[in-house]
Amino acid sequence: MWSDWIYPETDICFACGDYVEGLGRAKFCASCRSKLSPVGETCCRRCGKPIADGEFCEWCRQFPRGFSQASAPYRYQGLARELILRLKYENHPELARAMAGEMALFFEERKEEKIIDCIVPVPLHRNRYRERGYNQAGLMAHALGKRWEIPVVEDWLIRTEATRALKELTAAERKRSLRHAFRLDSRFEPIRMPNHILLIDDVLTTGATAESCSTVFLKWKTKEIKVLTFATRA
Ligand SMILES: [Zn+2]
Ligand SMILES: [Zn+2]
Repeated sequence: MWSDWIYPETDICFACGDYVEGLGRAKFCASCRSKLSPVGETCCRRCGKPIADGEFCEWCRQFPRGFSQASAPYRYQGLARELILRLKYENHPELARAMAGEMALFFEERKEEKIIDCIVPVPLHRNRYRERGYNQAGLMAHALGKRWEIPVVEDWLIRTEATRALKELTAAERKRSLRHAFRLDSRFEPIRMPNHILLIDDVLTTGATAESCSTVFLKWKTKEIKVLTFATRA
């Protein structure tokens, strides 16, 4: 609930709760940051997943992707995974801001935010939203939009199916279950989509969610969709 969203004092690490002088607001301390595993340089140029060598992962070599590039600063393991689970399932919406800070630093290294026209968070199904009280991707998107002064649009994309918890599904089942999971709100159908959309989510698993959202936007003549998540599953 929003009423539970108490802003912790400044200089408190959002991951471990320690007081660290000079840390600032909504940040992770150096010790916690060292527990996050960066994806590193050797990653797929399309989906951003860590790979052993080459340019693209096996999946991206075989199948087209709707988005031009997905990237994430961290691997979905250890503390990164724990933070995402806390954010989604343990009612810690305040973590979204600190996580978005990490995503921003990573994205800004390549100055990619300069070409983005608008930011779109992956929506939750309304039942899930009602249960949780917030959309974690939406909170991240708003933190990024504020930092970069880029508009955030939450009402274009609608999740039409309450998909089973995706983590229970295999890659193929996930792709199938997501094929028609998103649509554009009919109120917005006649509008012209911006050229460069940045799609935000907490974690990229197979990339099927991002792909399903991208398909909707491509149908409405968006030129390019990039995807930014806090973590990516190897
Ligand atoms: Zn810490
Ligand atoms: Zn890939």
